Amino acid sequence: MSTSPGQNAGNVLIIDLTREKVVKREVSPEDVKAYLGGRGFNSKALLDMVPGRIDPLSPENVLALGNGTFAGTALPMTSRLHISTLSPLSGILGDGNAGGEFSAMLKFAGYEQIVLTGRAKKPKYIFIEDDNVEIRDAGELWGLTTGETVDWLRDEHGDEVSVAGIGPAGENLVRFATTMVDKYHSGARGSGAVWGSKNLKAIAVIGTGEVEPADPERFYEMAREDIDYFNRNEFVKRIYSVIGTHYGLIQWYPSWKYFQVPLSAEELPVGLRPQDLAEYEVGRTQCFSCPLACKDVYYLPSTGEYGTASEFESIYALGSNNCITDTEAVLRMEHMADEYGMDVMTLGDTIALARLLHEKGILNEEEVEGISLEWGDAEGQIELIEMTAYREGFGDKLAEGYRNFAKLYGGEALAYCYDVKGVNRGWYEVDFINGIFTLSHATSTRGADHLRGRSWAYWENDKLMDPDAVRKMLDAGLPDYRKDPVGALIYGERACTLADSLGRCKGSINSWLQAVPLVWKYPVFRGTAMLLSAFTGMEFTEKDVIDAADRIYLTEMAFNVRQGIKKKHYDVKFPPEFAVTEKAKAQVKRHWKLVDEYLERRGCDVKTAYTKRDTLERLGIGHIANRIEGKEFPEWDGPVREVA
Ligand code: SF4
Repeated sequence: MSTSPGQNAGNVLIIDLTREKVVKREVSPEDVKAYLGGRGFNSKALLDMVPGRIDPLSPENVLALGNGTFAGTALPMTSRLHISTLSPLSGILGDGNAGGEFSAMLKFAGYEQIVLTGRAKKPKYIFIEDDNVEIRDAGELWGLTTGETVDWLRDEHGDEVSVAGIGPAGENLVRFATTMVDKYHSGARGSGAVWGSKNLKAIAVIGTGEVEPADPERFYEMAREDIDYFNRNEFVKRIYSVIGTHYGLIQWYPSWKYFQVPLSAEELPVGLRPQDLAEYEVGRTQCFSCPLACKDVYYLPSTGEYGTASEFESIYALGSNNCITDTEAVLRMEHMADEYGMDVMTLGDTIALARLLHEKGILNEEEVEGISLEWGDAEGQIELIEMTAYREGFGDKLAEGYRNFAKLYGGEALAYCYDVKGVNRGWYEVDFINGIFTLSHATSTRGADHLRGRSWAYWENDKLMDPDAVRKMLDAGLPDYRKDPVGALIYGERACTLADSLGRCKGSINSWLQAVPLVWKYPVFRGTAMLLSAFTGMEFTEKDVIDAADRIYLTEMAFNVRQGIKKKHYDVKFPPEFAVTEKAKAQVKRHWKLVDEYLERRGCDVKTAYTKRDTLERLGIGHIANRIEGKEFPEWDGPVREVA
């Protein structure tokens, strides 16, 4: 493959697995200007190609992998692969973001995105080497774990190959199965089950081309400033390179026993403290082009295995929320989830919900089929994880995932769910950051999510990093979250949308002032516009960048409207006996007022939450209004299921 200046002149690969047909379509400059890449390209493909409300596990569903505008460059933290589909967990947009090397390799091979449709008759994998794209037999791969799959494909195609694919959970259509990239980098919300439903085990890619910015001098001068920033900044280095993402354990604290008891730093149980986890750490690993190496590598003496990335979310979900404090057992569970290819948060929260429903008598002994659901039973939980991945016995029900699992037992069970639009909310303080956190769960286009508006990061790290951060933030024109939480959230949503579309790790926008570290010189959106201009050779203004972020977000909202999402689904609620503070109650009281303000400022109808035609027309996507305006969509109640 030859070098292509401003690599966004690359191709999209459209692969119909039913007909085994591969089509290459060139990306136009207009596509790049409107939707940038990565998440932007994926969300547009889903709205264009998913035919309304369908079973996410039917061949008509679309699976899109987009590598982001800056993938493969030396700009730090730009190796994220965005994976999008109609989610079998929630029945709305389901997307996830994974690190590793896949997105860079795909770019080196000359592709911006892969769009998969249909269903192969037998298990297949796809091998891509530059222009050569082959759909191959995966008979020998079916049944292997994610790690074994990568090893098999590297034996077959060489060590250079980068792999995205699924483990047994995806094959068995577990509704929260993940796409795994290069063994350990996960993308959530059930995309793994969509691979499984398409009989697709993996994609292995090798690219030999290069990525050349249109204006290399200008682009790499800015990239160098970015690298220098990360190298200089002791706070960032400490958080990422030393502690890693279980930093949350000393910053936000997990919950105990299905969200019933919030733990303070002093109350963190022995076994789940950062120093306990550190005892198992034997090294660090990172994604392509990242100087930070935020992921720990741990060794499990009892099984002789190595795992990676013990995160706040896995420790609370598999550990404390299930009252399990055995460090090695929790790390082993996380490693099992990675090898089987399952999302740790939904896995842990679904098991904790099952324990609670059993304790309440909603789930009786016959229903749990003799399985132990005692709080704190680590060995029992290891067994449950295996049963879930293979849909064996009671594991078949757990494999439905959180709200779908609760639905099996009726309204009383559903009342104990802590979710938004079918996605479990996880544990974070409800009134965190002047309530932006809760609001961001409601407005997220993929259901409850702590990464869509990056609400939790607002300001907290800046204060530690630089005593003048608040003044600098206000000077840079950023909304003051204390006075304008809705403005701050929209700002955050734009920054996260850009990160996902440009292929940047959200670690790079850990706080708004770092959204592009260049912000120490240029405000966030202007810095992004400068990078885009230098990379693509097209002139991007600050307004172009903000408009692109809004276009992507509103495209996703329209996709969800067609899946039956209405204003009532922007609700946030607490299960009975949830640990609710007075401040949190006050937050819930003012929730709908904030939602109305949010919809107004997003240019949506405050009554229906549908985006208004003139908003879409202003962004050049007025045609989307034709698909939603004046139409009645059946109300969402989770994923559609085809009657067999
Ligand atoms: S900060 Fe961590 S997750 Fe992000 S790009 Fe670097 S190594 Fe990957």
